[in-house]
Amino acid sequence: MTHDFDLFVIGGGSAGVRLARIAAGHGAKVAIAEDRFWGGTCVNIGCVPKKLMVMASEYGHAADDAAGFGWSMTKGDHDWPRFLSAKNSEIARLNGAYTGLLERAGATIFNARATMLDAHTIDVGGTPHTAARIAIATGGHPIRPDIPGGELGIISDDAFYLPERPNRVVMIGGGYIGVEFAGIFNGLGSQVDLVYRQPLPLRGFDPDLRYSLAEALDTNGITLHPGQFPLRIEDRGEARRLHLSNGQHIDADCIFFATGRTPNTAGLGLERAGVTLAPSGAIPIDDGFHTNIPHIFALGDVTDRLNLTPVATAEGHALADTLFGNSPRGVSLKNVASAVFSIPPLATIGVTEDEAPPGSRIFLTRFTAMRHALSGRSRKTLMKLIVDGKTDRVIGAHMLGEDAAEIMQGIAIAITAGATKADFDRTIGIHPTAAEEFVTLRTETRLVGTADAKAAE
Ligand SMILES: Cc1cc2nc3c(=O)[nH]c(=O)nc-3n(C[C@H](O)[C@H](O)[C@H](O)COP(=O)(O)OP(=O)(O)OC[C@H]3O[C@@H](n4cnc5c(N)ncnc54)[C@H](O)[C@@H]3O)c2cc1C
Repeated sequence: MTHDFDLFVIGGGSAGVRLARIAAGHGAKVAIAEDRFWGGTCVNIGCVPKKLMVMASEYGHAADDAAGFGWSMTKGDHDWPRFLSAKNSEIARLNGAYTGLLERAGATIFNARATMLDAHTIDVGGTPHTAARIAIATGGHPIRPDIPGGELGIISDDAFYLPERPNRVVMIGGGYIGVEFAGIFNGLGSQVDLVYRQPLPLRGFDPDLRYSLAEALDTNGITLHPGQFPLRIEDRGEARRLHLSNGQHIDADCIFFATGRTPNTAGLGLERAGVTLAPSGAIPIDDGFHTNIPHIFALGDVTDRLNLTPVATAEGHALADTLFGNSPRGVSLKNVASAVFSIPPLATIGVTEDEAPPGSRIFLTRFTAMRHALSGRSRKTLMKLIVDGKTDRVIGAHMLGEDAAEIMQGIAIAITAGATKADFDRTIGIHPTAAEEFVTLRTETRLVGTADAKAAE
């Protein structure tokens, strides 16, 4: 049976665009539909605008720090509308770049919502199209907690288009989006409260990172509310009042829910195609990105495995090469480095101390970075290596401090290549940098699973 397309991709985000572009480049007849904005979450309401906001906020800190280096400067106010307009121009440029890439590769583009009519037919704006293979790359969206007055809060999608910067912000959620936006608003001059259920932010990250981050956020002037969750929000006219589980309340101009995301699978017609879902709403897949229907694939955040842009693009590329490039391969989710663009930032790869096997060796250093010897800012950099006690392989690396993400990318190559602690030790450092500490850590701090480790908890 012939179909209109060899491959139909639903969703023009990181995963879908990469898949469609590479598949079309391999000579396949490809269509892709996007109903909101090309480039998806990352480009429009995720990584890219978020990082621009972090940069905007960092300039505020840099202006403060400059005095220690002899500069006389008055910081002045941040012009939020001017920044937003510059940010929006850059995002519009990127949107165009994405459609341009797809067109040049020869893919057919639909600016419309796509839904499944059956296992080979997709409805696009009332017109059916058939495809031999279909890929679901529809991403996810933020969840708003179901509490009285929940509609008075904003979600991350809204935060990128606020007409003015709120002076008092309550961030709810201690995950990476919560701590990043807490840092953004704090750096731009807002008063920020951060509310989270756990004793420390960033559940799942290495405990030393979590502890050091909480300390840094506190030093930056963010008011931390550990072990709390929101009960209800009240509209008080001039303010929104958030009632917390401990009976206290906080008045703010903006209450921001960073309380998790869920896959975009509702209303897609997946049941008509016979695609089954996990209870969470995510699409389960095997190592070859197949759903339970062998010619229907799913990739990126809609599978809710490791929700990061480089993972989504790697999956798109691997699937295109597998289906049309005569080069079948999967994507390993082991040892994927990631960063949190808090202020200061942190980055991580491999196991945490909690996950490390007994006998693993911990090397840890905390120091004042050279910049802050003069800036007067009280900020510690933390670096940590976790080394397998049997093989000497470095199985975890963690850093909190300026440039953590940039530094960790290089460490990630070493760890992916299976570097041992001896390899790190014989590497000559670049001086003077913070990064050189990773190759000069000589004194073992403790062993996992021993009395020393217990004492450190
Ligand atoms: C605030 C925030 C910050 C983030 N920061 C980072 C970061 O610093 N680093 C990082 O690696 N990751 C970050 N992420 C995660 C990253 O954005 C996602 O992992 C990535 O975008 C996933 O790509 P995707 O293609 O799976 O989904 P998406 O990028 O979400 O793309 C899915 C696309 O499908 C479209 N779509 C959905 N349904 C349909 C339909 N029926 N028809 C047509 N189109 C449809 C959507 O409009 C969307 O454009 C961040 C996310 C958020 C929310």
